[in-house]
Amino acid sequence: MNTSGAGGEPSGPGWTFLTNHSHVLICITEDDSARSRDIAARVGITERAVYRIVTDLCDAGYVTKIREGRRNRYVAHLDLPLRHQVEGHCTASALLKTVRRQPLAAAVKAVPTINRNRQTMSIPPDAALRLLREGNRRFRADPYIETGALEGHAGLGELSSRQVPFAAVLGCSDSRVPVEVVFGQGPGRLFVVRVAGNVVTPSQLGSLEFAVVQLGVRLIVVLGHSGCGAIEATLAGMVYGDSSEPNGHLGSITGRISRALLNAPRGDDQGGLPEMDEAVRLNVNQSHADLGCESSILAERIGSGDLKVVGAVYELESGRVEFVADAPHETKPMSGVPE
Ligand SMILES: [Zn+2]
Repeated sequence: MNTSGAGGEPSGPGWTFLTNHSHVLICITEDDSARSRDIAARVGITERAVYRIVTDLCDAGYVTKIREGRRNRYVAHLDLPLRHQVEGHCTASALLKTVRRQPLAAAVKAVPTINRNRQTMSIPPDAALRLLREGNRRFRADPYIETGALEGHAGLGELSSRQVPFAAVLGCSDSRVPVEVVFGQGPGRLFVVRVAGNVVTPSQLGSLEFAVVQLGVRLIVVLGHSGCGAIEATLAGMVYGDSSEPNGHLGSITGRISRALLNAPRGDDQGGLPEMDEAVRLNVNQSHADLGCESSILAERIGSGDLKVVGAVYELESGRVEFVADAPHETKPMSGVPE
């Protein structure tokens, strides 16, 4: 009896050190277009068991399945920790580096161009969130890790023909908040839209709609940060009437941010305006709400549960990303604010 994992047929040794989930993951990282029947034969389980295991791996965020014509292709996300408490300190990547017959980089093959039949089984939102949390933990442990050493770093050849980002991020342009870096991700992993103050404009909406509709992204993070200059400028203008900045186009940004800040509870010592940290959070909430209010495409998918939007704040001092409540506070509509 094969006691090594879920749904196995009797075959092979009586027991093994790795589960069939590991065996299947090894197979599809060695051949990203392996057929279910070949995986089943190699692992010693049924095709039905392979299907269940691949579904588990997709649901947990370790794999994205892409339907291309009649074949499946798999993209592995190996920077997640293993699931059992005994091995949870180790990533899937570390495990596979140990047990695979060939180096991970050697498994990268020529990949087809994107075609009309392409369908992506994208990483579920909660699994994508886990990848981001784990990536930020790695960044805080080693903020100066070389880009080429980032987990999930794909070869340029592979990326030249397709992209399968597992999340989209609307972040600020601030040079101290490089989004991919603070989430520990290499090229091809995140679809990033950056604009001062992480405000929502039609251009940003169109970009994010593209990520969701064309690339299958199911998680959008609105990422604000401490010490945001755009918010400081907005507060200065609102508190002191400092209008030195909006001569150019900056007013199109501060106007949007001020709308968020005017929602703050009154009665504090800034003439009714929030403190800086609170202002950052309010602005994240405003952009979060705008995504759902201003885009019917995003709103429909949020409503069906296919898409999740979360707010987050990056702390400059610690490098930590703190995810904030899912539901934005009461916000004002975007209409009337210039692009
Ligand atoms: Zn900023």
